[in-house]
Amino acid sequence: MILSPRRLLVAGLAATVLSFVTVACSGGEQPAPTAQPSGDCPAEPLSVVVSVDQWGSIVSQLAGECATVNTVVSGSSVDPHDFEPAPKDAALFEDAQLIVVNGGHYDEWATKLAAGSAPDAPVIDAVELSGGAAHAEESNPHVWYNPAAVTAVADAVTAEFAKLAPAAEDYFTERHAEFGDSLATYHQIVGSLKATAGGKTYAATESVFDEMAAAVGLVNRTPPGYQAAAAHESDPSPADLDAFLRLLGDRGVDVLIYNVQTEGSVPQQIRAAAEQAGVPVVEVTESMPPGADSFESWQVGQLSALAEALGVGG
Ligand SMILES: [Zn+2]
Repeated sequence: MILSPRRLLVAGLAATVLSFVTVACSGGEQPAPTAQPSGDCPAEPLSVVVSVDQWGSIVSQLAGECATVNTVVSGSSVDPHDFEPAPKDAALFEDAQLIVVNGGHYDEWATKLAAGSAPDAPVIDAVELSGGAAHAEESNPHVWYNPAAVTAVADAVTAEFAKLAPAAEDYFTERHAEFGDSLATYHQIVGSLKATAGGKTYAATESVFDEMAAAVGLVNRTPPGYQAAAAHESDPSPADLDAFLRLLGDRGVDVLIYNVQTEGSVPQQIRAAAEQAGVPVVEVTESMPPGADSFESWQVGQLSALAEALGVGG
């Protein structure tokens, strides 16, 4: 069953009314709670909702103790493309002061919940920030694989934090600088791949890594028919699949990028063909694997595997 956005909004509204009534009844003589700075934060911590953990890790690092960050979709067990929010997820949006979404139809439910439950909260949309709004229909929504988008989102988040809690502006500036430092290895490996692996070729079972591949200068040789089918989450035609298998059989690419979060026998068949032909396979994931410490350690792990597969310094 598909929960329609309207039903969710109605549920969210009912919850809002209920909590209002509760507050009104218990209000009485008691003074309203005053905003208390907590821990190292010089202001009242903000309430932030992030749709998916690819961005949640980044936002949490930028927030430190000055925001409570609730990430709706986390852990790779759920395919974010197929996620449908439950009422408890919808409820998270009600008190949100800032909402961060991926955008580009990837998490449309979050944009709708933001508009319905927190209409006054600013929304940071990663696809829009990376310039994808103009061509959202055809564009690749996996923009957390685009180093420029990561920087743009981090900058926008810090700017909004400072606007929402001016007393903590210095704190947020410091967190932003620390996050920048922790991305150093990530930027370094992107740079060295670009210098040493630019022009090498790849094919991919799914488009998830394409923006990073482009950033390091790899050439995409995925058969276009297969790529179009995968982008629309449909099965490739036998001819398109055959073209992919022949490409690998002929060792027509330097590496196969394999999204382990894509299910089905087709990607497995492609992987088997690569292994049989001796084309190195690099595993990537759509979202942060459960064991990953942070966005940057997850990305650096994958980029190191790519450098090794291509036989270049990473
Ligand atoms: Zn995807």
